[in-house]
Amino acid sequence: MKDHAGHALLRDPMARLARSRHEFGEHGGVNLSIETSATFTVLEAGKMPEIFEGREGPRGGCFLYGRHFNPTVMVLARHLAALEATPSAYCTASGMAAISGVLLNACSSGDHVVAGQALYGGTWALLHDFLPRKAAIETSFVDLGDLDAVRQAFRGNTRVLYCETVANPTLRVANIPALAALAHEHGASLIVDNTFAPLSITPAMHGADIVVHSLTKFINGASDIVAGCVCADGTVIDSLYDLHLGSLMLLGPAMDPRAAYEVATRLPNLGVRMKEHSARALAYAQRLEALGASVAYPGLASHPDHQLFTQLCNPGYGAGGLLSVDLGTAERASHFMEHLQNVEDFGYMAVSLGFSDTLMSASASSTSSELDELSLAAAGISPGLVRLSAGYTGHIDDRLAQLERGYVAATRA
Ligand code: PLP
Repeated sequence: MKDHAGHALLRDPMARLARSRHEFGEHGGVNLSIETSATFTVLEAGKMPEIFEGREGPRGGCFLYGRHFNPTVMVLARHLAALEATPSAYCTASGMAAISGVLLNACSSGDHVVAGQALYGGTWALLHDFLPRKAAIETSFVDLGDLDAVRQAFRGNTRVLYCETVANPTLRVANIPALAALAHEHGASLIVDNTFAPLSITPAMHGADIVVHSLTKFINGASDIVAGCVCADGTVIDSLYDLHLGSLMLLGPAMDPRAAYEVATRLPNLGVRMKEHSARALAYAQRLEALGASVAYPGLASHPDHQLFTQLCNPGYGAGGLLSVDLGTAERASHFMEHLQNVEDFGYMAVSLGFSDTLMSASASSTSSELDELSLAAAGISPGLVRLSAGYTGHIDDRLAQLERGYVAATRA
């Protein structure tokens, strides 16, 4: 495989990122400059129709309008393409903008999607409620671990197979090579949400056609920006901003260049952060398992997809920053989180993930509350399941002691 500059594709995502980061600021600054302009000039009137007709464009240095392309946002997109080993990328105002944009681009009214039954609640609602009603795009939800069920779910009008690399919040791992083969056999695209596994898994290297991210999470890492991206080949990316049919061009969820700058400046330390998120998550999972808790973490040998994760992962970044523990009931889950936040200062009860501090939420009543009871049960999301996004603040020994006290307090109550 080759990168966009024709070099052999490096296996390590941070090495690819380092090779892609070669711009300077406007005055030779070590940071890139922020181009805030919403509109751009041309020197000759004839250039404008050429840009509108797509004969000239940002790749040739011709910018037109900020919702179309912005130079600072494009720099970030290029880095994200390098990270995800895709030829091209496009940044959006949120993860949901990226997800809805690619789905509306790949599917037309009357088309069909096959998707995993465990997905972020917003994505699930988009597929289950919004798209059928607003656009006549139907989805069949299946257990992605059952490849026969996935195969049987395809119809003649299936355009997309959709999954999360590591599913929110079950942490089940998608068999991306097998899913890509099935999608391609049926003339469909495999779209993968890699929000939970940046660096640890590179879906495009295993056959995914389109990779989406909520940059709001680990990639930005400071819980201060909402952003997203689509990583894919140039044809897919170009079609997203087609003047007549491009879903992102016409629905307009453009990323602000100031946000792009912030995210770009945090990319160089993504590798260091992910290693520490993963190390903490593994230590927390091991401690909870030793206490007899029902814990899920792809880095534990007891995880049903541990072998699969090991086969797919890039070495050196661990098994990611998320773990879950099932306390059995919603009451115990609440007790556990309240003790850890209000008594121990271990972390925060908050949705989202990928922050420097630990974030905890009971998925069934928060970020998966869009799923009805049957769908929650089918996905394996119990009312007592607490998702933890492991932060890296505080001393690990103190954190482990706090976590242990929280678990004991919740389970003995
Ligand atoms: N994908 C996953 C796996 C998520 O967890 C989330 C949000 O929690 C999203 C997408 C949506 O991202 P955003 O909130 O940036 O729109």
